[in-house]
Amino acid sequence: MNNNEIEQIVKQVLAGMQGTTSGSTAPKTAGPIPSRSRVAMLTGIEKIEIQEYDIPEIGDDDILVKVEGCGICGTDAHEYKRDPFGLIPVVLGHEGTGEIVKMGKNVKKDSAGKPLAIGDKVVTCMIFKDNPDITMYDLNKQNVGGGDIYGLIPDNETHFNGWFADYLVIKGGSTVFNVSDLDLDSRILIEPCAVLIHAVERAKTTGILKFNSRVVVQGCGPIGLICIAVLRTMGIQNITAVDGEQKRLDFAKRMGADKTVNFKDHSGIEALAGAVKDSFGGYFADFAFQCTGSPVAHSNIYKFIRDGGGLCELGFFINGGDAQINPHFDLCSKEITLVGSWVYTLRDYATTFDFLKRAIAIGLPIKELITHKYPLDKINDAFVTNVKMEGLKIAVINE
Ligand SMILES: [Zn+2]
Repeated sequence: MNNNEIEQIVKQVLAGMQGTTSGSTAPKTAGPIPSRSRVAMLTGIEKIEIQEYDIPEIGDDDILVKVEGCGICGTDAHEYKRDPFGLIPVVLGHEGTGEIVKMGKNVKKDSAGKPLAIGDKVVTCMIFKDNPDITMYDLNKQNVGGGDIYGLIPDNETHFNGWFADYLVIKGGSTVFNVSDLDLDSRILIEPCAVLIHAVERAKTTGILKFNSRVVVQGCGPIGLICIAVLRTMGIQNITAVDGEQKRLDFAKRMGADKTVNFKDHSGIEALAGAVKDSFGGYFADFAFQCTGSPVAHSNIYKFIRDGGGLCELGFFINGGDAQINPHFDLCSKEITLVGSWVYTLRDYATTFDFLKRAIAIGLPIKELITHKYPLDKINDAFVTNVKMEGLKIAVINE
C-alpha cells in the first residue's frame, strides 16, 4: 500500500468521525452571539465610521469569525488616503485573525485539509485555494484578483466583509487556514511574513543563496526586518543590514543581522560599498535583497554584490519611479542573477506558519514588529499613525 492510499483511508475515517458528531442541520455555534455588531466602514477619504449592522444568517458552507485583531497594510493606507481602488464604502482589513464562533454544517476542513471546529483561530488568504502555485502575478494577468479578498470588497448586504470589525463572515469556497497553534501577534504578522517567504524562495531559484552566503539586506522597514528573520531561521549567519536610521539598524541586529551599515555615515556610493565590503571582512555580498522603494537604493545595491552574485528586488510594491543602472558594469560584466518577487503563493502561506514558530523558538523578537495597538473605535487614530509612518506594524485589536 502506498502513502497516497494510506492517506485516503485516514481521510475517510476522519470524515466518518466528523459526520457522526454533526447530526443536526443547524449551524454549530459557540455560546451567545449578538444579533447586531460593529464594522469600521471607510465612508470617504480619510473617514472611517463605526457602524452597526445585523449579523447575517450563516449558510451551510459559511463561517462566522469573532475578530481578535488585524494589521494595517500599505494597501489599506493607500485606500484610506485616496481610494485608488474605488471601493468606498468598504470595510477594510485583510491581515486579520479571529475565532470561529459559528459554522455551517458543510464546513469540515480548512484550505490545507486541517479540520475546523468552533473555537479554532483562523486567517483568510487572498490567494484562491484551487491552485496553490498561482502567484499574485498570475492573478494580475488574469485580472481575477480582488473579487474574493476580505477587506477589499465594497460594502454589500453582508456588511461583515473586512477584518476591521467585530465579526467577519467567511463565505464557502474562500481560502481559510486553521492557525490555532499561533498566538495573536504572530497571526497578525502572517501576511507580511509570507511576502518574505516568497522572496527567499525566489532568491533560492538563482542557486546562489547558500547557508554560508554573505547576504546584504537593504532597507530595515518591516519588510527588510522580516527578510533578515527569514534568512536567520534558514541558518544564514552572515547578514549585513543597510539603512539610514540607527534605531532600525539596532532592531535589525536583534532580528539576526550580524553587522549593520548606516548609509548616512558614508558619503558617496564608493564609500558606502566599501563599508559593506568591510562588514564582510573584505568581500562583497554573494546575495542582496533590495527592500526599499527607493530608485537610488536600487541603483546602489549592485555595487554591494560580488561578480557572479545574485539580487532579489522586492521593494517596489508601488511605482517608485525609474532607477538608473549601468547595464555593462552592474549586470553583464558582473554576471549578476536578478530576480523580482511579488506577494506570495498559497504554498508560501503555509510555510509562513512554520517560519513564525521557528523564529519565536530561536528568540527573534518578531512580535515586536507590532509597535502600536488600537481598539476598533480608535481606528482613525490607528490609520493616522500608519500614514505618518510612525512605528512599524500598526494593529487594531478587539478586546
Ligand atoms: Zn497586506
